[in-house]
Amino acid sequence: MRYLEPLYRPPSEAESFILQATHGCSWNACAFCAMYRGRPFQVRPLEELLEEIAESSTFADEVRHVFVADGDALVMPMGHWEPILEALREAFPRLRRVGTYATARNILEKTPEELRRLRERGLSLLYIGPESGDDETLRRIGKGSSAGEHLEAARKARAAGMDQSLMFLLGIGGQERSLEHARASARLATAMDPKYLSTLTLTVIPDTPITRQSRFELPSVPELLWELRCFVEEVAPTSAIFRSNHASNYLPIAGRLPRDRGSILATIDGALEGRVGLRPKWARGL
Ligand code: SF4
Repeated sequence: MRYLEPLYRPPSEAESFILQATHGCSWNACAFCAMYRGRPFQVRPLEELLEEIAESSTFADEVRHVFVADGDALVMPMGHWEPILEALREAFPRLRRVGTYATARNILEKTPEELRRLRERGLSLLYIGPESGDDETLRRIGKGSSAGEHLEAARKARAAGMDQSLMFLLGIGGQERSLEHARASARLATAMDPKYLSTLTLTVIPDTPITRQSRFELPSVPELLWELRCFVEEVAPTSAIFRSNHASNYLPIAGRLPRDRGSILATIDGALEGRVGLRPKWARGL
């Protein structure tokens, strides 16, 4: 495989076959994100990708999951997606899931018929990072889509039969909008009603645009725990697998929401009261 590093994928795709079909992110404008700074967005040539898939068919019996990278690979045109998905099915007969990162904008730019065709060919899981449900926060961080647009995108993806894995970012509202951010994120997550839900914690990266926003102050660790508490208390998906165990988080927790709300809140309260230990700062990473 020809990978351009750094290569990002969700933690849950650690065992997956990764196809880096694009380089970078077509949006590349979120004020906190340094993942693809300096990397021009590019859709890789189709022939090259089909060749890589064919060459990898030596692992044919091992591959169950495929993740298509980079940052918002759903943006690829149908003329790329359809032959890629067909080649993956042919190369890996035991394939059960194909996932990719998607922005709300990527989803809204595809027609319902296009999304349905992608689902039929195997694209079944979209990783979407609204980061926040608070429109003011979304505006300040340059996410490019509002809470309403994220909800519209979620409904469209669900209508096509695709599952969603949502990521919200603790701390991204700054101290100023901490509570609004937590509450609105819980409302948006409830409305988008994903199969998988996670919270990550903002790490401010030097030289990213957010460092030049004079009013932005990263909430303290107790404030971040209160955001998490508020989010968990108010979010009400039908039944979502919840993970807050990304390396960026101070308090790794996991469960199913709303089923395990009580025990998760008890763990957060334990951390707030000092009875449950936090991951030390040095052990956190992006
Ligand atoms: S959409 Fe994702 S990858 Fe692209 S700039 Fe925003 S956070 Fe970074």
